[in-house]
Amino acid sequence: MTAPIRSHGVFRLTAEDRFRCAKLVLPISGFSEARPAHLKMPLLRSAFIALSRNRLLRRFVERSSVGVKLSSRFIAGMEIEDALRVAEAVNRQGISVTLDSLGESVTSDTEAHKAAEVYHRLLDAIAERKLDANVSVKLTQMGLELSREVAEGIAENLVRHARSLDNFVRIDMEDSSLTRVTLDIVRRLHALPGLRGAVGIVIQSYLYRSQADIEQLMADGIRVRLCKGAYKEPPEVAFPKKADVDANFIRLSCLLLDSRLYHGLATHDENMIAEIKTFARKHGIEPGRFEFQMLFGVRRDLQRQLVSEGYNVRVYVPFGHEWYPYFMRRLAERPANVFFLAKNLLRK
Ligand code: FAD
Repeated sequence: MTAPIRSHGVFRLTAEDRFRCAKLVLPISGFSEARPAHLKMPLLRSAFIALSRNRLLRRFVERSSVGVKLSSRFIAGMEIEDALRVAEAVNRQGISVTLDSLGESVTSDTEAHKAAEVYHRLLDAIAERKLDANVSVKLTQMGLELSREVAEGIAENLVRHARSLDNFVRIDMEDSSLTRVTLDIVRRLHALPGLRGAVGIVIQSYLYRSQADIEQLMADGIRVRLCKGAYKEPPEVAFPKKADVDANFIRLSCLLLDSRLYHGLATHDENMIAEIKTFARKHGIEPGRFEFQMLFGVRRDLQRQLVSEGYNVRVYVPFGHEWYPYFMRRLAERPANVFFLAKNLLRK
């Protein structure tokens, strides 16, 4: 077996690893043969993603008591205090937290500043209560679709605040129309004096562009959360086949583990997790050098198991009144959740 080569990062992939990772991904020329994404995407997943954008249904469901009850499986509650209480409980299990004040696509500057205010309060509360937690922010909630300047200014203030408290802001990744601008903003913030290391980004393995983005981000020294991706994307930009998304997730995980930075590998997929563990073990990358990330309410058994094995785990804890789109994306990922939730509702 070839020994891993030391490089700019902790380890550089050996030729053998590169070959193994490369085998996992289809060559670009294979994409033209792929069927259109809407034919490949299972019907229920498509339906839930479409429903996540339905304003009428959203208004009705978010206000209904049944809706609120159902959402509690994946949402920590409606208020900041609910989220902090859940964060404390999760921390007691030896699991870190990232707090997400739900909301996206605001329609005025005032709304964007109001959304940011919640995050400033969260950062202060995390410090006061000495929680093991950071925050996850969507740029559309900070006004990105209204004005890049507004969103960037708000995000900069948040990152400065986080830095002053020795904390960290993760900028979530939204749909592919926003990938470029989100990357630009995060890279610009990270390059500002005093902000290096206080802001990170999310990369989605379903996008073809992600490997190039990761290589650029590693050169800049920016921390990444890798996930598969939760939006409906056309085959021009994203792998239509789940097997390719999964293979790319493993390939990109290897690249991240190969850097000297601390990254988050966000998945509930036991195959992905097993591959990552094997790769890390093989290269002597200690469990403390990266973290697994999962969503609140999803695979709690696996979260506990990883902690007991000595891995770092962080749980994404969303809260707030605007839970509908987030909730629908969780149903899209696993439509069986609908039956699970309905059964629980009938039991109560
Ligand atoms: P999948 O292949 O979807 O699922 C594998 C297995 O995991 C399933 O068989 C099931 O057992 C379990 N599972 C997965 N989802 C669920 C669920 N909802 N309920 C119950 N079981 C489930 N996406 C973005 O586009 N942008 C982001 O910024 C972003 N941030 C994220 C942050 C975190 C911490 C996590 C965990 C995910 C984030 N996502 C984000 C969502 C991500 O892109 C996926 O949609 C989601 O994680 C499901 O993919 P998976 O890797 O778990 O694997």
